[in-house]
Amino acid sequence: MKNRRQFLSTLGAASVGSMIVGTGAVGSAAGKEKLAIDGGTPVRKTPLGYKAYGPQFYNDVEKRELLEVLESRRPFRWWKSNSKVLEFEEAYAARIGVKYALGVTSGTTALCAALAALEIGPGDEVILPAWTWYADYDTIVLAGALPVFAEVDSSLNIDPDDIEARITPRTKAIIAVSLQGCPADMDPILEIARKHKLRVLEDFSQCVGGRYRGTYLGSIGDIGISSFQESKTITSGEGGAVVTNDPELFERAIRFHDVSSLRAPYNEILKGGMVAGFAASNFRMNEFTGAVLKAQEQDIETICAALRSNTRKVREGIADLPGLKIRRSPDIEGDLGVTVFLDHGTRERRDRFLRALRAEGISASPPGGSVILPIDKRIENKLTVHPAWPSFNSPEGKAIRYGADSCPRTIDIIGREGGVIMDPNFSDGDLKDIILAIRKVYLAIYKA
Ligand SMILES: *Cc1c(COP(=O)(O)O)cnc(C)c1O
Repeated sequence: MKNRRQFLSTLGAASVGSMIVGTGAVGSAAGKEKLAIDGGTPVRKTPLGYKAYGPQFYNDVEKRELLEVLESRRPFRWWKSNSKVLEFEEAYAARIGVKYALGVTSGTTALCAALAALEIGPGDEVILPAWTWYADYDTIVLAGALPVFAEVDSSLNIDPDDIEARITPRTKAIIAVSLQGCPADMDPILEIARKHKLRVLEDFSQCVGGRYRGTYLGSIGDIGISSFQESKTITSGEGGAVVTNDPELFERAIRFHDVSSLRAPYNEILKGGMVAGFAASNFRMNEFTGAVLKAQEQDIETICAALRSNTRKVREGIADLPGLKIRRSPDIEGDLGVTVFLDHGTRERRDRFLRALRAEGISASPPGGSVILPIDKRIENKLTVHPAWPSFNSPEGKAIRYGADSCPRTIDIIGREGGVIMDPNFSDGDLKDIILAIRKVYLAIYKA
C-alpha cells in the first residue's frame, strides 16, 4: 500500500486532470473526452459496484465464535454464564464510550425500546428528519406518539435551524439521525434540546463508528440506537443495540425488550433496579447474533479507517474541479466517508451525471437507504393498523399534514444530490478510476 502522499503525487488533482484533458486547462472545451454514454471508451470495463461492508471482514474469528455457540448447545443468552451477547454489549459500550449497551433483534426494535425508555406515548410529539429510514417514523407511531418532520440541510441530515420551528408544548424528543455515514450536527441539536427541555435520541444506524468532535456517535444524546442489518457498518444480518449512560433509561429499555424482567447480570449492574415493571415485549438477541457481533465489533475501527482514507483520496482527487459542491459534513474527521456526493444544482443534471458515471463503469446513485417519508403514500395518508390509533386521533394528529408541502426543501436537496457509494476495500486502482470517471463526467456535463 502506498501512503497518502505517494498516492496523491501519482493521482493528485493536477496529474489526473491533465491525464484526462491532455495539456489543455482543466475544464477547457477542447480537453473534453467523449463520454461512454455517448459512445466513448468507459473508464472501467468491469463495473465497480456496491458491496455490504461487514461481511467482507468475516474471518476465522466469526467462525470460532459461532462454532462455540453451536457446540455449547445453548443459543439462548440467559441459559449460559458466558453469554456472547453480554460480551458484545460490554465491548460495544466500551468502544462507544457509554456505560451501558443492550443487544436487541434489530434497529427498529432498538428504537421501540429507546422510545419506551424515554416514556414516549400518546400526546407526545417527536421531531425527526423528513429524509430517513421508515423505522424512525414507524416506531414513533407504534408508541402512539405523533411524528413531526423537520427539513434536512446540505449535509442531508436534519437541519438544526428547522427543528426549533417544529417545537410545540407537546414535543418530547428529537431523533438525531446520522445518515449515510455523516454525523448529525449534535451541538446545535443539544443546545435546542436543553433550551426546550427535550430528550435527544441518536439514531446512528448508518454511522456506527462515526464521531462528532472527537466523541463517538451514540454517546452524545440521552440515548442512542444502532442497527446491524446487512447494509450497516458491521452486521449479523439483523440485529440492533440501545446505548446510554443513564441507568434509568437503560433499565426501562431492558425491561421493555425482555417481558419486563431484569435478569441476573443486569440486576447486578443496576443494583436491583429502580423501575417498576410494565407491559413489555421480547426483542432479545440470540447467541448466534451475539457471536457474530462480538467478532465484527473488533473490526469497526478497521472498516471506518479504510472508508475514511479511501474517501479522502477521492475528495482530494476532485477538489480542484470548478464550482464543485461536495456534500457538507459537520465533522469531516468523524464522518465515515460512506459517500462522495455532489450537489448538482438540479435533478436533471444530477440524473444525467449519475447515468454518465454508471456508463463509465462506476456505480453511482442518488442518496439511498432512506426515504423522503412525508411523501410516502401510507405516511401521507396517516395509515395505521387501527382507525382509532392515538397518533392521529388527537386534535394535533388530525390537523397535521404530511405530503410534499410539508418538506419542500428536503425534496429539493435530496433531488439534487448524488455520487458514489464508497467501500473500505476499494484498491488504489479503483480509487483512481472513480476520480478519473468523476472528473471526466463532471467536466463534460458542467461545461456543456
Ligand atoms: C437500518 C436503519 C434502521 C432500522 O434498522 P433495522 O435493523 O433494519 O430494523 C433505523 N434507522 C436507520 C437510520 C437505519 O438506517
